[in-house]
Amino acid sequence: MIADKIHTGTILEIQRMSTEDGPGLRTTVFFKGCGLRCSWCHNPESLEKKPELQWIESRCIGCRTCLESCPRGALTFSESGIVINRDTCDGCGMCAGECPSTALEVLGKVWSVDKLVDEVIRDAPYFGASGGVTASGGEAALQAPVVAEFFRELNRRGIHTALDTSGHCPWKSLEMILPYADLVLYDIKEIDPLKHRKFTGAGNELILENLTRVAEYIREHVLPREMWIRTPIIPGATDRADNITGIGLWIAGNLDGVATRWELCAFNNLCRDKYRRLGKEWIFGGSRLMSRQTLDELTAAAKSSGVDQDIVFCTGTAGIQDAAVGAGQSRRDKKRTPPC
Ligand code: SF4
Ligand code: SF4
Repeated sequence: MIADKIHTGTILEIQRMSTEDGPGLRTTVFFKGCGLRCSWCHNPESLEKKPELQWIESRCIGCRTCLESCPRGALTFSESGIVINRDTCDGCGMCAGECPSTALEVLGKVWSVDKLVDEVIRDAPYFGASGGVTASGGEAALQAPVVAEFFRELNRRGIHTALDTSGHCPWKSLEMILPYADLVLYDIKEIDPLKHRKFTGAGNELILENLTRVAEYIREHVLPREMWIRTPIIPGATDRADNITGIGLWIAGNLDGVATRWELCAFNNLCRDKYRRLGKEWIFGGSRLMSRQTLDELTAAAKSSGVDQDIVFCTGTAGIQDAAVGAGQSRRDKKRTPPC
């Protein structure tokens, strides 16, 4: 149960008309903060819970006004532009307020649940019978009291709710949210615990244990009604047949009748600019999109792994050399971003 008090959450972004985060047209709320550090992360601006400053090079006119406006002396000007000292910057946004060309932006804002509900129910007319609201991140479950209260209010208004989670969080956080979630989107990125630790900074033991408990919870309760599993297909990391087969075996053995969809989400490199703006390196910056052949082979491995073949879907964009839309794959699927 959640206590009846006003909660506030740190939100990175509210994305409307999303087709990537559950069924139908959705409004997705991205919560800031995550306990994993996936080397391929597509939302680097959501990793830290605190608000973060970003510099947008293409908008900067080089006036240097921001240097004077920072009370903490966190900004310097170099040959390659504005440099943000992340140890000193607290995300106060004073520099962004003074910048004449909106080249500085603070990512992350504190919202009360009431205001968040008011904001998203404006979109209710386009949800239709199948759409709704998804809480994503970062890791939304790390702000569990906020998400639970948010979902409870949406439930009261008859709006479909989906929790998008990595599962890397305390069980009690998930337990707080599940009574108000219609759908759980749960990532299994890598079945080998050592490789999982190498790729994400943490083993997968807690994630699989929590997933088993979520499945039990779904079997015993009215809500959530179902679960979708998502696996990011990352070149040189998770894109191995043994990984997909191992995940499929695990799903077949533990989630039978509960997991109604398993998505293999193809890598894309659309987030390169995000890293640049935050002044961070991204080791996948030069990686190409997956080939259609690789995606087809991994889909075949998933379908022969022991799960119900009908729940397996491959989503995302294949490389330009063979970018034809695969059989049974919609244009909508081609825009999907892999889970972080
Ligand atoms: S104030 Fe804005 S435009 Fe001027 S140097 Fe700083 S970031 Fe660039
Ligand atoms: S956000 Fe605040 S602390 Fe950070 S650089 Fe701008 S003015 Fe300085």
